[in-house]
Amino acid sequence: METWRLIDTGARSATENMALDETLLELKAAEKLPHTLRFLQFSTPAVLVGHHQSVEEEVRLDYCQNKGIEINRRLTGGGALYWGRKELGWEIFISQKDLRIPSKIEELYQKMGEAAATGLRHLGIRAHFRPRNDIEIQGRKISGTGGTELSGAILFQGTILVDFDVDEMLRALRIPTEKLQDKEIESIKERVTCLKWELGRTPSIQTIKASLTKGFEESFGVRFENKPLTIEEENLLKIKLPYFSSQDYIFKIRNSLPRRKTLSSLLKTPGGLIRISIAIDIKTQVINQILITGDFFAYPKRAIFDLESLLKNSKSSLPRIEEIIRSFFADKKPQIPGVKEGHFIQAIEEALQKMYLLPQGFKGEETHHLFPVLKPFREVRKPEVLLLPYCAKEVECLYRNLPGCEQCGRCSVGDAAQMARSFGMDPITIQNYEDLESTLHHLKHSGVRGFIGSCCEPFYGKHRPDFERIGLPGILIDVERSTCYDLGQEKEAFKGRFENQTHLNLSLLKRVLEYCHG
Ligand code: SF4
Ligand code: SF4
Repeated sequence: METWRLIDTGARSATENMALDETLLELKAAEKLPHTLRFLQFSTPAVLVGHHQSVEEEVRLDYCQNKGIEINRRLTGGGALYWGRKELGWEIFISQKDLRIPSKIEELYQKMGEAAATGLRHLGIRAHFRPRNDIEIQGRKISGTGGTELSGAILFQGTILVDFDVDEMLRALRIPTEKLQDKEIESIKERVTCLKWELGRTPSIQTIKASLTKGFEESFGVRFENKPLTIEEENLLKIKLPYFSSQDYIFKIRNSLPRRKTLSSLLKTPGGLIRISIAIDIKTQVINQILITGDFFAYPKRAIFDLESLLKNSKSSLPRIEEIIRSFFADKKPQIPGVKEGHFIQAIEEALQKMYLLPQGFKGEETHHLFPVLKPFREVRKPEVLLLPYCAKEVECLYRNLPGCEQCGRCSVGDAAQMARSFGMDPITIQNYEDLESTLHHLKHSGVRGFIGSCCEPFYGKHRPDFERIGLPGILIDVERSTCYDLGQEKEAFKGRFENQTHLNLSLLKRVLEYCHG
């Protein structure tokens, strides 16, 4: 039976762990490393952002610095992760040309995820791979996975939550916990699990490693032999450490652009969320800087940086943007599972259309909270209705679960309804998702031209295809305060049973109504 190498690099700093990833991947690409399984842990708690994420957008810097939580950047894409000292990481370094490696990225995720899930089942838990890249136990995530590629070498990695501190994760990552009550935090906790909660005890780290090793042996038909790092690997690691601990690597390669000076958009795709941030010279309409971030995976990982540098200093006209993106995809053929070139074109176009709002009195910061439905903002003229979400109604109000509002003055829904009437519009409260669908269909069939509405950014991200399918153009304005998505209560909210209260951004609503009716 074929033998693969096993390296257990023990508990190390985040810097060392990230630098070791690149060390081993480079050596694999140079064919100096056999197929290898690595186990890793962290000597201090750490937050690791995905390769294409901005640290400022994802991490509470002050909290992490005060608590000694290390911050670093993974080589792989995906979302930000919190790692406690007890969590375990596994990594496979393998050649792309190995016949056991599927050529389709989605199948690679499945192969690796199922191998790790097989290992976890040896511990006596019912773990299963869940597309796109998680391992779950009865709907609760115990492991996330992801990979990257370099010159024919693949690094595929995953986490195993062993004895996880969800509260610390909530404090370290940018999740608005200060606005959450205890029961709300509980609902977030219900989305994850760890070995200790599943088994009622924490298995020894050696037992977990042995089970995972067995899972990989069975899945790949190999056996593993434990071998420490070689001198060559240790030396290359030492050379890489200064860069992996530098601000340039951790922060600057995805340094977020100042919000008040940028135009932004977000687009949910089957492969993850794309966020665009563009700094533009309004006079010359040239793109000064562009940042494409998100939790997607890109192969090779530099593809997104290369695309950004092609777009930088180019004219912001749509045909030019489209030409750059299409020829980039044709030449470089990057693999970005679930994300197509058209998604990037669309996301950039939507950020750029906000440029036309600035001369109309909108502040740069305000444009981040506006989302187009079906048509550019300037084409939504004289909308007849204002749609208001039930989640902004006072929780104790009789109308919380009923259509309508008496405008009693106790919450922003009444003020917004009054404002709508002053512009000759009909305010309509929306009580749940079904109500939204039927209201939009009804409005469309009654000849209504367009609508203004308010909802949270994640709702827009997720239901945008539904708005487009129904076909009524409009503008949506972000709600303020914690949303049901922040709290993991989107299922309750869908049925109209979200119990938190959001707030409508009344000053922005007024500006939008003046703009559309001006
Ligand atoms: S303004 Fe309307 S929704 Fe708000 S508390 Fe009063 S009646 Fe209820
Ligand atoms: S998804 Fe939740 S927070 Fe967002 S608008 Fe709907 S009920 Fe409100």
